Amino acid sequence: MKPCSTTRRPDDMKILFSAARIRRRLDRLAEEIAHHVSNRELIIVAILKGSYVFLADLSRSLARQDIHVIVDFLGISSYGSGTTSSGKVRIRHDLSIPLKGKPVLLLDDILDTGLTLRHATDLLRRRGAHNIRTCVLLDKPARRRIPIEADHVGFTVADTFVVGYGLDYNNRYRHLPHIAELRAGSKPAVRTGT
Ligand code: 5GP
Ligand code: MG
Repeated sequence: MKPCSTTRRPDDMKILFSAARIRRRLDRLAEEIAHHVSNRELIIVAILKGSYVFLADLSRSLARQDIHVIVDFLGISSYGSGTTSSGKVRIRHDLSIPLKGKPVLLLDDILDTGLTLRHATDLLRRRGAHNIRTCVLLDKPARRRIPIEADHVGFTVADTFVVGYGLDYNNRYRHLPHIAELRAGSKPAVRTGT
């Protein structure tokens, strides 16, 4: 098997969470989430693009808990250009299934300033979803700009830029099976925020 691309830039990457550790954590998260599901069926709204790997694995962990998952996507971004959040949120891809009266689990890759999750939660509420719970793979509490917490959190991380397992830097590294810190020297000039 060819080595994955991290091995080409070993000095730039530090693995924070291995694939095996992520897998184990997702199984626990699925158990946690299953406790709050009443009729074995759950609509998951995943925020594009960063949560697609998380969604794929979590939905299979939930299936092992006998939870049937219906999936929809929301393309939303809180970043313009530059290294800090613009504070503006744009909808790039809207929902495609009706949520009125339905319990929804909102999924994102990482909770950073909180603007994306706040905006997405408000949108789901306006679309009539009821009992909205939130789940993020990573939480970066040091960067929070508004008071918001997720109901379910995979791992807490320090204020560093992370890639892999769906998370990108300029649309690269999403395929990595682990989550790694992108170290100084390779720090992003632009956060894509997707
Ligand atoms: P928030 O609105 O909470 O500031 O932004 C959340 C979004 O910012 C995440 O969905 C993600 O796309 C992006 N983001 C925040 N921190 C990181 C990071 O460390 N790495 C990557 N790849 N994206 C991040
Ligand atoms: Mg994102």
